[in-house]
Amino acid sequence: KLSGIFNALTKRGALSEEDVNAALREVRRALLEADVALEVARSFIDKVRSRAVGAEVIKSVTPGQMVVKIVHDELVAMLGAEAEGIDLEAPAPVGILMVGLQGSGKTTTTAKIAKRLTEKAKRRVLLASLDTRRPAAMEQLAVLGKQVGVETLPIVAGQSAVQIARRAMEAARLGGFDVVMLDTAGRVTLDEALMLEAAEVKAVAQPHEVLLVADSLTGQDAVNTAKAFDGRLGLTGIVLTRMDGDGRGGAALSMRAVTGKPIKLVGTGEKVDALEDFHPARVANRILGMGDIVSLVEKAAESFDADRAKRMAEKMRKGSFDLEDLRDQLAQMEKLGGMGGLLGMLPGIAKMKSQIASANLDDRVVKRQTAIIDSMTVKERRNPDLLKASRKKRIAAGSGTKVEDVNKLLKMHRTMADVMKSMGKGGRGGIAGALGN
Ligand code: GDP
Ligand code: MG
Repeated sequence: KLSGIFNALTKRGALSEEDVNAALREVRRALLEADVALEVARSFIDKVRSRAVGAEVIKSVTPGQMVVKIVHDELVAMLGAEAEGIDLEAPAPVGILMVGLQGSGKTTTTAKIAKRLTEKAKRRVLLASLDTRRPAAMEQLAVLGKQVGVETLPIVAGQSAVQIARRAMEAARLGGFDVVMLDTAGRVTLDEALMLEAAEVKAVAQPHEVLLVADSLTGQDAVNTAKAFDGRLGLTGIVLTRMDGDGRGGAALSMRAVTGKPIKLVGTGEKVDALEDFHPARVANRILGMGDIVSLVEKAAESFDADRAKRMAEKMRKGSFDLEDLRDQLAQMEKLGGMGGLLGMLPGIAKMKSQIASANLDDRVVKRQTAIIDSMTVKERRNPDLLKASRKKRIAAGSGTKVEDVNKLLKMHRTMADVMKSMGKGGRGGIAGALGN
């Protein structure tokens, strides 16, 4: 039924508001089915809507499919484009405080992380259970510790969580440990006593990481849990457990959205080695449940870009690279975060990439240059020779820049056009010089 809607929208060109709204209704449903919190889904969709309307639809893709791809990319960006691991950059012993609701997987995850830090990062880790409420909890951590070959703090009956935390840090200092992991007690629901205790432990142990361990199947409650823990304890990251379950992981988006804190790791099973890095694209696919459409659009985009590169090469050969082409290039650069765009695909230019990178074309410069071109008329873009002093003044005013900036852009374009012309004829030129910085 999903594809029915997407196939119905087969106009090409820029995405209209109706295209976007129709597709976003489906996306909204997918997000809610994945258990993304309502308020998070709503604000996410509003954000995507404003990005998507007017975006170009690439050839051989329907507007609906295009929207899905835009949603997917935005989802990946929101989840955190890159994986962030546990941060151990602090004087030893580095404290890691594990917090979360009861049954979320704190104790298991503590052992998993300890195993990883011991085996992969070659750190000496000390584990301590601060769970004074459940008699078996300390024993559970000791057993898991033994299983992963990591030491645990000896159990002393009758101590409070804060006392144990103090003792753990002291033991780690004396024993020359690199890392101390503090596994705290959880409650079935959020409550003040739990938060207070965790806050006291934090004050005593001064942990470098405060990790919220959260069940990925939590659903709508994820927002409240994450907000409460972050507000009270200042989280540094989140670990999502039970990603091996059949939930779609909407909690990942909810928690990330309300705390802004990175999801550092995911638990994928009961065994002590079932811990993985967080892969935003994978999770985005799972939340959206439209991986097929996303890869279809990605493939289409590749051939679309190749097509455009070919046309650009043709323009080069003819020496007709105008300001509209330049704007196209700037948009590509912005989209791809650098010179990975069309220019990079042109013969001869790939080799000069490092030179281009050093030409200092940062985001702000690209935005300013684009604004300048946007302030020109179509005629002016196609024929830059028209740009005399009075027009330049108008363009500078329209784009919030100075005439000097307009001149710079025109010079850059002229040099690029010349270089391209000579390259088109088989010659060579320094593109970095052409970019004029
Ligand atoms: P705690 O109360 O937060 O300390 O939670 P525990 O670490 O004791 O875990 C509660 C239960 O969840 C145990 O049965 C664990 O084996 C299980 N568990 C923890 N993490 C995962 C996970 O990533 N996947 C699955 N399937 N089970 C998990
Ligand atoms: Mg526990």
